[in-house]
Amino acid sequence: MKLGLLGDGQLGWMLAEAAQRLGIEVRLWSAAGTGTAVRLCPDHVVAPLDYAPAEAAGGPSAFDAFCSGLDVVTYELEHLSLGLVEALAKRVPVHPAPAVLALAQDRWLEKAALAAAGLEVAPHAPCADRKTLEEALRSVGYRALLKTRRDGYDGKGQWRLDSPEDFERLLGAEDAGHFRWPASGCVLERRLRFDRELSLVLTRDASGAFAAHPWTENRHEHGILYTSRAPVALPKAAAEETEARLKDWLDSHRYVGTLALECFEVDGRLVANEIAPRVHNSGHWTLDGARTSQFENHIRAVCGLGLGSAEARGLAAMVNVVGVPANPELLARIPGARLYDYAKAPRARRKLAHINLCADADAALTSALAALEALVPPPEPAQ
Ligand code: AMP
Repeated sequence: MKLGLLGDGQLGWMLAEAAQRLGIEVRLWSAAGTGTAVRLCPDHVVAPLDYAPAEAAGGPSAFDAFCSGLDVVTYELEHLSLGLVEALAKRVPVHPAPAVLALAQDRWLEKAALAAAGLEVAPHAPCADRKTLEEALRSVGYRALLKTRRDGYDGKGQWRLDSPEDFERLLGAEDAGHFRWPASGCVLERRLRFDRELSLVLTRDASGAFAAHPWTENRHEHGILYTSRAPVALPKAAAEETEARLKDWLDSHRYVGTLALECFEVDGRLVANEIAPRVHNSGHWTLDGARTSQFENHIRAVCGLGLGSAEARGLAAMVNVVGVPANPELLARIPGARLYDYAKAPRARRKLAHINLCADADAALTSALAALEALVPPPEPAQ
């Protein structure tokens, strides 16, 4: 079986590794031919991920060379051309389906889909200029986040507002040329006072079977994930209801593959923030802490191989290495710490690696995590 994989970053690297272990050949679509996944995949096509086949950017040969002989296609990121994914779907089965990718690419459509699925979302409103932002502020309030509808991630494309003065300052920057309304507009969202950030990573296959990994607690610093920990105790009814509604929604889309739902816990309720139709950073701990990793289950789902158990093997945590490389010699002092290095050049706020930890008892995990956090600094603020 031959799998086509769009994207060559660390998620692609871990997906390709899982596929190859299952005996599946992988052909990569790589934007520059230099990403983390390229080292595992000599069979790769180099062309931009915003490639539009109609315009033949990169040449129709890249598209044809990629499609030739593939059984199925998947992707490791949602910031790629929907046109490319739709064109591929006419030639080869693509999972997850382009319709869900389209929702995940647009915060406004995504929020509407989450609300329609019966999940609570933060009060929000669309805006695309001063007038519509003023209207949105009236319904959402001034303690808010202005987020671009498209292409925002890791805190990029987000502005924090606390007061009418912040609003004036931001739009003043517009006059000075520092702030520009994106063509697709923004969503203004109420900034919630949450107790915790949580995520659910689960996989559905074409037969309708699910494998849901245990809920994960996540800590972000300056918009970037710093640590994850799982399994965690949650308000039981809220977690079960959220999971059931998400599964119904995935059934209604005949979703195939892994998906992550990010939520805020607010006074015992779970408020949905966003979905990612792919494997997710908050599921990296599953490489060591679950019977089957999110990467293997995604490959199993899209290749029709049946899902493995998503049960936890004990307690696990993950720390992201962001901006500054980790020192493997120092890590050796922390028993069981496993480094996954993405072989990337260091750059401020760039994810360079992650480290997984496993333990049998809560206290042991807490102290190992504290030792690791002392060695691996949290992500820095954006400049
Ligand atoms: P996002 O790009 O939507 O995943 O946001 C990145 C991070 O910003 C989240 O992980 C939260 O830490 C924070 N954040 C996003 N939306 C909200 C919100 N409505 N209220 C409070 N914090 C938020």
